Parts: sequence; structure tokens; C-alpha cells
Amino acid sequence: MSNRPGEDAAISAASADAERVQVVQPRLWNPAQAIHDGVRRKFGEWGGVNESIEPSTTFTTMRPEIMKDMFEGKVGVENGCFLYARHFAPNSLSLGLRLAAMEDMEIAYPTASGMAAITTVLLQLLSPNDHVVSGGAIYGGTHALLEKFLPRFGIHTTFVRPSDTKGFEQAMTPQTKIVYVETQANPTMEIADLLKLAEIAHAHGALLVVDNTFTPLIFTPKHHEADIVVHSTTKFINGRSDAIGGAISCSHELLLKMMDLNTGTLMLTGPVMDSRNAHQLNMYLNDLPLRMKAHSERTMTFAQRMESMGLPVTYPGLPSHPQHQLAKNMKNPDYGYGGMMSVDLGNQDRATAFVKELQRLGGGLNAVSLGYFDTLVSISGTSTSSEIDGAERSAMGLSSGLTRLSIGYTGTTESEWDKMQQAIECARRGSK
Ligand SMILES: *Cc1c(COP(=O)(O)O)cnc(C)c1O
Repeated sequence: MSNRPGEDAAISAASADAERVQVVQPRLWNPAQAIHDGVRRKFGEWGGVNESIEPSTTFTTMRPEIMKDMFEGKVGVENGCFLYARHFAPNSLSLGLRLAAMEDMEIAYPTASGMAAITTVLLQLLSPNDHVVSGGAIYGGTHALLEKFLPRFGIHTTFVRPSDTKGFEQAMTPQTKIVYVETQANPTMEIADLLKLAEIAHAHGALLVVDNTFTPLIFTPKHHEADIVVHSTTKFINGRSDAIGGAISCSHELLLKMMDLNTGTLMLTGPVMDSRNAHQLNMYLNDLPLRMKAHSERTMTFAQRMESMGLPVTYPGLPSHPQHQLAKNMKNPDYGYGGMMSVDLGNQDRATAFVKELQRLGGGLNAVSLGYFDTLVSISGTSTSSEIDGAERSAMGLSSGLTRLSIGYTGTTESEWDKMQQAIECARRGSK
């Protein structure tokens, strides 16, 4: 018996480590239960309550035959055999299994950033002359990747309004390999009808790739026939805005293709998440369900109150949201409608006054990104969506006063609402 549990596992298939891994199939599928029960290490290396950090970039084999088998793909991480950390490392595997359980997918691969996850998937699946049909209101970086970068490789994209299901159908061509959307679009908060888009994609032999960054736990794209789910874990999944990260949730088959030593984008472009970050994010996953509930609750309250003040508010939880019914049908129970809302303050001056005053009062921070415990606020047209040009911005309903709020859960609802209300009053006064 060597002291290399992985190797023993491969040789005897009876791992000493196996006992420390709990595998429970939840009876009623619930994403929080899945994260908790799915595949979780009960103890760390020394019996600690937390899993240990394994920062090694390379892994020993006690028998050279195993190294050969690893290179030939005969044994791998599924047998507890790790080779090199750009390929897969224990902490990212552990995190990946839990993220996969959350998304009800076969496997997830943690990446260094959300853009790394998106780029890795697209470059693996697309070749010159291939075509993508994408939601038009998407993260600015993804929009730029599709519109300005991928054409260099002969890959072209048609953008469609995320809620315009017919438009997706009409944009499909025999070259379309991917339909790409964000479940809740950035920054318009439109909800994509994933099941219909999956049907359209599949009828044309294409795959549906969904960015679920805004809505972890709330929506499970796989349950609406999505093929691949990407995340920027930098946002809600992390929740502290203290580490960049991403994840690809997909089939074993696609993961193996992406990990292929000769042709796989994961191996060849190296977007791997570092083990220390993977360990930290894995710890943060434990409170994700509580955080999502808290974000949703407060956002619903603020959205309702702003709407009753006569402001044009966009939040999927409000009956006034154009896809409210769809969101209601699509969402999982228990996690509400998420922590993202937008409010149109009419023009840029008013939006600026609002943001300044809110920050002065300590009710929110003027920063891009989202999913932080405090409220983050940004004026979309001049920040996260500035990659999208003016005409296109107005076509997607992105006005110059559109202010995006990622509502935090710190403080009390009433103390934070008080600040919000004062900032709104300030913006209204300023414009008179
Ligand atoms: C932030 C974000 C990304 C990019 O993620 P990074 O972690 O910053 O690389 C992609 N999609 C959405 C919806 C995002 O909000």
C-alpha cells in the first residue's frame, strides 16, 4: 500500500479516500441541497472540518506504468489520479463537482475568470465559417468577443434581443453551431426563454450555451434543456468581490474534449483556476443559498418601493416585468428573483446625481460587478455596456439614465432603503 491514495484507487478501485467522500442523491432536487449533498468531502486531509488546500502543481506516481496510462487517457482524475494542475487539481475537482451538482450537470470545470470560461467553450466548439446566434443584451466583454474578436477566426455572430424568440429562429443558418444567451440579460434584465431557445438550437443541430452568472440557484438552465452553462464566479458565487473566477458546466464528453492534450482548449490555452482560489470559492459555496435568498428579498422590497414611487423599474420579480410569468415558471422555488434590478432615472445627469448621493450616504458603491454583500451601482451606458455602440444600445432599450443595481444584504432593509430614497430624491431635485 503506497501513501498515494489516488494511485491506490486506480490500482485497486477501493480507495482509502472514498470513505471521506459523501455521495448522496437528494430525493427532491433542490440546488442548495445538491451543493450540500452532491459530492462533498466530509473531512480534510488531517480530519479537519474543512477540505485541505492541495497547492501542488505536479503529482507523483509510485508506479511509472500509471504515468503512461494517464498520458494515454486510460486513468484520470475520475480514478483519483492527478497529473499536472493545468489539467485538473484536487481542489478544482472538488469545487467543480459541487458546481456541477448545483447546475445539475455532469461536471464543472473552474476557470481563472468568467471570460476564460466563455472563451474556452467558444473556441472549442467553433471553427472558421461557423456562426453564432447570440442574445444582443449580454455582458460587454462577451459582446466584444463575439462581435470584434472572433471574426478574426472567421466566426460570425448575429445578435438578437434575448426575449425575441422568433428572432433567434430567423437568425439560424446551416452554419449556426451555437445559440448563446444570458438567463437574465445584462443590463436589460430580460429573461430568455431557455426551453424555446434550446428547441430552436437543437432543431438546427446547434448547442445552447447559457451564461447563468446573474442567477445561480434561481434558474437551472439544464432543466430547460441548455447544453452548457458558463459562470463568472467573480459575482454572486464568490459574493465578496475578492477573487476572479469562472466555471464551465457541461457533459463529461465535452470536458474530455476540452482537456485533450493535443486538441483541447483547456489544456492548450490554460485558463485553469488556481488551487488556492478553488479552495476559497468552495468554502464560499456553503453560504451561497443564504446569500441568494437575502439578495432576492431585499431587491424585491426595493423594486416594489421604487415602482410605487413612480420610477420605471425593471426587476423580474415585479408583475410589470415583460417576462415576469416566464421567470416565475422557470425559476426554482425558494430563491426569489435575484439581486439584480435596474431603474431608469431619465438622463445621465440624474443618474450621476443618484449614484453620487447614494455613495456619499454609504448606501451603495459606484463600482462595476455584482453579487457583492453591499449594494453596487453603475450607470450601464457609460460603464459595463460601453463596448456596445450608441445606436445598438438604444435598440436594446438601454437609455442613458439606466442605472444598474446589485442590491446587497448588509445593514437593515429600512436603514438601506432610507439612503436609497434620499438618493432618489436628490436625483429628482437636481434635475429641476
Ligand atoms: C462579469 C461577467 C462576465 C465576465 O466574467 P469575469 O469573471 O469578469 O471574467 C461574464 N458574464 C457576465 C454576465 C458577467 O457579469
